[in-house]
Amino acid sequence: MGRGITFFGACDFTCRIRDSVFRGRPSCRSITPERPAHQQLRRNCSWGNLQPPVAAPVVHAGNDAIVQIDDLEFGYETASTTGSRKELHVGRLDIIRGAPPAPAATMDARRAGCELRADVCVAGGGSGGLGAALAAARKGASVIVVERERLLGGTSTAGGVSNWEPGPGDAFAREIFERLSKTPKAVIMDKPTYDETLTRAGNGHIQFEPDKFHRVVTDMLRETGCCRVLLNTTFTEVTVNTRDRRVVELRATRPDSTVYSIRAGVFIDCTGSGFLCQAAGCDVMLGAESRDRFGEPAAPPAPVERLNAIELIYRIRPSKDPIRQDLPSGMEPRRGGGAWPQPSGGRFVNTCGGLAPGWLLMEKGWIGARKELERRVLSHWHWLQKEYYPRYEFDRFSPMLAVREAQRIVCEYVLTQIDLIEGIEKQTHDDIIAIADHPMDTHGAGGSLGKVSAPYGIPFRCLVPKGGWRNLLIACRGAGFSHIAASSCRLSRTMIALGHAAGSAAAQCAAVRCDVPDVDIGPIQRELGMPPEKRPAP
Ligand SMILES: Cc1cc2nc3c(=O)[nH]c(=O)nc-3n(C[C@H](O)[C@H](O)[C@H](O)COP(=O)(O)OP(=O)(O)OC[C@H]3O[C@@H](n4cnc5c(N)ncnc54)[C@H](O)[C@@H]3O)c2cc1C
Repeated sequence: MGRGITFFGACDFTCRIRDSVFRGRPSCRSITPERPAHQQLRRNCSWGNLQPPVAAPVVHAGNDAIVQIDDLEFGYETASTTGSRKELHVGRLDIIRGAPPAPAATMDARRAGCELRADVCVAGGGSGGLGAALAAARKGASVIVVERERLLGGTSTAGGVSNWEPGPGDAFAREIFERLSKTPKAVIMDKPTYDETLTRAGNGHIQFEPDKFHRVVTDMLRETGCCRVLLNTTFTEVTVNTRDRRVVELRATRPDSTVYSIRAGVFIDCTGSGFLCQAAGCDVMLGAESRDRFGEPAAPPAPVERLNAIELIYRIRPSKDPIRQDLPSGMEPRRGGGAWPQPSGGRFVNTCGGLAPGWLLMEKGWIGARKELERRVLSHWHWLQKEYYPRYEFDRFSPMLAVREAQRIVCEYVLTQIDLIEGIEKQTHDDIIAIADHPMDTHGAGGSLGKVSAPYGIPFRCLVPKGGWRNLLIACRGAGFSHIAASSCRLSRTMIALGHAAGSAAAQCAAVRCDVPDVDIGPIQRELGMPPEKRPAP
């Protein structure tokens, strides 16, 4: 009797066999029946610095075939007797660079009765996630959304960037806007009509209140009757069947230690930085790619560890007797950025790249970066209050860091600057599902790379992680975009549209019992109003 475990993946892994935790790097490939598992892990892995390998022997080949991966037990198929080796990969959030922290989990899913099933599981309830959940649930698929923050909307709400830049964004975005318009003090717009905000040339911005945005979207999801939203719930771990190329299960934890075990027909990664795909073992892009990689004229000659800047957006409020902000000790005043009006009377402040380079997140991690940014925000507010807003005082930090760019996933197609230059007229893809026209805008990472001369299309294949996945999609700023393309197409309304396409595809999988590679793109393109000439021939 024996067993085989194969580890895949682009990042470090953690694996617990019985009570012992192993951590290693992807050079570790497989554990075969001939030797005790722990010996092979020691021999094959280059150990990360995170934790030394355990000394005690754990499971031996020939022992009974139960492998426990963290708290989850899998009945493990024997290899030598049947020849059918079950290949599992367990990937975890806590080993992904720059990922937000997850609450510690102690309560087992089975004991707590938190085993859930749905047609579609959406990880992350930001712009992409709400688009995906709405599209799938409105088509009758059962949907579970796992969202770490207490609000839906992601960067647009918990991240404090409650602003839609001008650019394409119809369908759900229009509906959200119309509902916000019927809610007192929920939205303001600098153009008379929504249509005028739909092109960059129109230059019309929309600002909304994060809490009201969350309520509107929650209502829209509730009305579908088949969407369950788990707020304050962090996806922490994913189990993948590497042989079938399927995500089997997602585990998520709440601050009260509840663990959810979620099984679904299709999983959609809407975590912004592709955390689910990374944990599943998909290939990752991080930083600016070299010119050779995609042939982009504006790319540097060699890869650069450079990311679009990160922010900690903050709110200020008018006051008759404002509290003055001192300069934090050891800090210089920070300048720049702007303060955008909010419907309720305050303003949100974005330094527009002046706060920190994006790579700080990779260097210091989520908590370290946030701590540093809080100090920098106060030195920014010290300057802004003195120079421009003496009748305002500090209100609050946004709950979530605002990340313009982190990891992106290598997908069946990677959108590049070439697509942006060609524009939709010249692009030859027949699976375009969204249109964008924002400039190539790299705040704090080399400045603007220039406007796009015409709107361009985003193909559906940018949402399909490379590697033959049967039930995995990604619909967020971490999808298949080069560093340069991502700097243009990351706007919130574009992400809602990508989510819409992914959710529709997932609903189709549920309705006709097919896998992602078999999805018929035509109906999705029609639903999203794509030009007929960009659709596949019937
Ligand atoms: C500073 C800044 C200014 C911007 N300005 C504008 C602007 O003016 N107009 C505009 O249109 N766009 C703007 N953008 C871009 C736009 O806001 C974002 O690119 C877009 O909102 C991203 O949407 P998303 O769905 O990809 O990710 P997000 O909206 O970030 O959603 C990701 C969601 O996943 C959740 N999540 C992450 N990890 C986990 C986990 N492990 N478990 C569960 N949930 C998880 C997060 O909590 C979040 O809710 C700006 C971005 C930044 C950072």
